[in-house]
Amino acid sequence: MVTPQIFGRVTVLTADNGGVMPYGNTVVVRGSTRTLVIDPSLALEPGTVAADLVFLSHGHEDHIAGLRHFDVPTFAHHLDAPAVSSLESLVDQFGLPADARAEAIRGLSDDFGLPPRREGVIGVTDGHVFELGDVTATVVHLPGHTPGHCGVLVEPDSFFFVGDIDLTSFGPMYGDVHSSADDFLASIDRVAAIDAHWYGTFHQKGVIEGADAFRERLGAFRAKLYERERNVLEFLEEPRTLAEIVARRFVYRPHVSAPYVDTIERRVAEQHLARLIDAGDVVESSDGTFARTL
Ligand SMILES: [Zn+2]
Repeated sequence: MVTPQIFGRVTVLTADNGGVMPYGNTVVVRGSTRTLVIDPSLALEPGTVAADLVFLSHGHEDHIAGLRHFDVPTFAHHLDAPAVSSLESLVDQFGLPADARAEAIRGLSDDFGLPPRREGVIGVTDGHVFELGDVTATVVHLPGHTPGHCGVLVEPDSFFFVGDIDLTSFGPMYGDVHSSADDFLASIDRVAAIDAHWYGTFHQKGVIEGADAFRERLGAFRAKLYERERNVLEFLEEPRTLAEIVARRFVYRPHVSAPYVDTIERRVAEQHLARLIDAGDVVESSDGTFARTL
């Protein structure tokens, strides 16, 4: 189910489908005294890899599905520790209506093997260092996708795992209840300023070698967020209600049908509207419509 790729003392266990959802690429950091596993994915099987510690970049199902194979100290940013610890908290992030919520809980337990609860997840903050002997792994808080989303910088090997700042053509995802487009942009700026030799993403873009190549792709990824915002603005040449904006779709293509689509479209649209209103480019009228000012 996985193919190992070696980058210094970091091994990436690439899922056989390349890391496309619902799979992903697990990172293993082997120090002289301890081994850290980051984001054990659905592609792992029992005994694929041993660990002394596990760190979760954030509390989404694809990043924690393989956690069931490990009975070792487990860490996440304290803001995402509840979602890692509890299926109910994980689903709360999606803000789904009741029937879609029940369906999501069934899927997360049947398809991702998530238990209702996992005890003892330890919350950490930005800058937390895992000492693994001759190598360190430092937590870098990169909120936006979720409030506690984090990367991990492995030194001296200069491998920077950036989680779901995943460089896909889909662009940044900030559709959860507590996601933030503004924080996502600040986190993109933060990772752009960190020099590394390799940059590891959790999904299909895999590992990028070299800071210049990474920054170029990161720029294109960042531009997707602004492209959505521009598309929203253009749609508001005529006054539109939020329901019309949601129905027009600025995230998913029209053929995509899933119970979460409208919820995510609404959450993303609300954030772009707030940003555009702040910038003075859009006004909300008393009849509840939004329109472009220029
Ligand atoms: Zn995620």
